[in-house]
Amino acid sequence: MTFDELSLDPRILAAVKAAGYTTPTPIQEQGIPAVLGGRDITGIAQTGTGKTAAFVLPMIHKLGQGRAKARMPRSLILEPTRELAIQVAKAFTVYGRHVQGLRVATVVGGVPYGAQLSALRGPLDVLIATPGRLMDHMASGKAILSNVEMLVLDEADRMLDMGFIDDIKHIASFLPEQRQTVMF
Ligand code: AMP
Repeated sequence: MTFDELSLDPRILAAVKAAGYTTPTPIQEQGIPAVLGGRDITGIAQTGTGKTAAFVLPMIHKLGQGRAKARMPRSLILEPTRELAIQVAKAFTVYGRHVQGLRVATVVGGVPYGAQLSALRGPLDVLIATPGRLMDHMASGKAILSNVEMLVLDEADRMLDMGFIDDIKHIASFLPEQRQTVMF
């Protein structure tokens, strides 16, 4: 299979080609059509197998079809660690480079609140967060999740190992019931 067969926006395909990828990995080949189709999925693959692009590419495709509203992210990605959150944010820069105006914010612990607060005020397509800091912003009314169309639990097994289950449940309770949930 080639990337061209995955029905992705040509702007995304151009970025994928520029990154030097020709063939989707198995998790991408199976995951991308399922996410594009709006299904709830659990994807299981080892690290280093292209898991990030398996959800980032279809997410950009779907976001390219709508518009962000102020203060209300359209998709939420939860990550167990700050480092992973930053890595996934970089993937949006790479794969979303030809999609004008894609707005991505990262909300993680251990860094000042200021820049995160101003990012949360504007229109947002993607919010990438670690659970603790996201809950701080939710408690102060700065992160509003009622417009989230897609939730990604990345490294979900690791988040559970780290004891994030109650935090995830709490966060999920603020999301619309009608949404897509993708777990890796
Ligand atoms: P990940 O498993 O998401 O951490 O990705 C591991 C590495 O594989 C990253 O450095 C990606 O840039 C790279 N990668 C992702 N998809 C592909 C692909 N289809 N072909 C070649 N490399 C890829």
